[in-house]
Amino acid sequence: MTQTTAWNHFLDSPKFEPGHHAVQFFENDSYLAEIVSRHIAEGLRQGEAVVIIATAAHIDAFQNELEADLDLSGPILSEQLVFLDAEETLARFMVDGMPDWELFLQAIGSLLERMASKHSRIRAYGEMVDLLRAEGNLDGMIRLEELWNDLARIYSFSLLCGYGIRGFAQESDLAAFERVCGRHTHVLPAETYSAISDQDGRNRAIAELQRKAAVLERELEKKRLSEAELRESEARLQAAIRARDEFLSIASHELKTPLTALILQTQLKKHKIVKGDLAVLQPASIVDFVDSTNRQLGRLGRLIDDMLDISRIAYGTLVLERSRMDLGLLVRDVLGGLAQEIAGSGSELRISVESAIEGEWDRSRIEQVVSNLISNAIKYGKGKPIEVAVTLHEGVAKLVVTDQGIGISKESLVRVFERFERAISANDVSGLGLGLYICRQIVEAHRGRIWGESELGQGSTFAVELPLTVT
Ligand code: ADP
Repeated sequence: MTQTTAWNHFLDSPKFEPGHHAVQFFENDSYLAEIVSRHIAEGLRQGEAVVIIATAAHIDAFQNELEADLDLSGPILSEQLVFLDAEETLARFMVDGMPDWELFLQAIGSLLERMASKHSRIRAYGEMVDLLRAEGNLDGMIRLEELWNDLARIYSFSLLCGYGIRGFAQESDLAAFERVCGRHTHVLPAETYSAISDQDGRNRAIAELQRKAAVLERELEKKRLSEAELRESEARLQAAIRARDEFLSIASHELKTPLTALILQTQLKKHKIVKGDLAVLQPASIVDFVDSTNRQLGRLGRLIDDMLDISRIAYGTLVLERSRMDLGLLVRDVLGGLAQEIAGSGSELRISVESAIEGEWDRSRIEQVVSNLISNAIKYGKGKPIEVAVTLHEGVAKLVVTDQGIGISKESLVRVFERFERAISANDVSGLGLGLYICRQIVEAHRGRIWGESELGQGSTFAVELPLTVT
């Protein structure tokens, strides 16, 4: 059995006698185990009957402490030593949240009576009251303390109650703490100052100080937590600011590229006309010029749309306009619209689309998703074959776009669905890193899911699942 240097044997001295009702506060279970096991050992040594009403974990701890020095089987068999589970015992006499005197008498009184017939003195330890405190049943707790005091008028026993001091660690627990102290003949402070004085008032003051220390400790812990939260949210904020700044620089670069191309083209045209090179006014040349201008304007428009979508998502105003539509037909339309780009990339297109996959979706938003995934496959597909499949399974439509291009590393794959995240550096391929983020928002708004599977250099597969109906 371990020794507590500050232990002054008060509980085991003749000063603690039948009729006394002490409260022992404790900070750590190990200290309580030490106190109670010594108390039990001393009781057995004096030939007293001992009843311990504690939680299963505490009973284990007490027995472990004792069994190093004592064989408990004899005292337990002869009922000199009785362990009762606090929760079970409490359940035997609690009625509507309050202890019932008659039932309490049956549960505890009859045991004490049997013990008293064989032993001249009885010592009891209980922590049912601490269980009631933990439940927040303070009135039940005080009532039970009073019932113990009433029981002491019928049977002769000394009683020790155990309370965790941290159970009173809120400023508002002061009244409960005082009521508990007031129902006991002796207050025994917790281990941080366990040298017990002869003056009970002093012990009580010490226990009160310990309670205040527990209050401060709790507040400090709360403060530490909120400081950690603050640091965390600051780090998140800094990361968001960095992402935004990076986005702004990529966005301005991206917006400038088509604009610069347009300005150069028009300047060149003007220069040629001024110089008298009228070939630029030939219909074929003008058609080329208009096509190229349209492409650059289209690119500008898409970038601006993406930026608008981002702010819509941020302000929660991305509203779906659902209508009945066929996903397979839409995918074929999108592929038709991208025919020139696909041809330009050199990628062979392999399509497998089941027919009549109809659902209630926002047509233009789903078009945006399909177009983004296929455009990425073209952009990052290295001119190798691209497969597009649309299937239906158990009320869920599935679109899968697979390329054999540059692929994405595992670390980047988890980021690409985030805002402003790009797997490769800004200079490599143009894009704002917004497309997949917007796709995810759209798909999730449809109660669907989107994910990617890829390895660096091994191509990528992006898949979307959409439930056919709104549930
Ligand atoms: P971006 O406009 O930059 O293409 P996305 O959000 O569509 O933005 O994609 C985010 C990043 O994910 C891209 O910058 C690219 O690094 C990576 N990515 C997306 N699709 C593919 C793909 N099929 N193969 C390889 N990388 C891809």
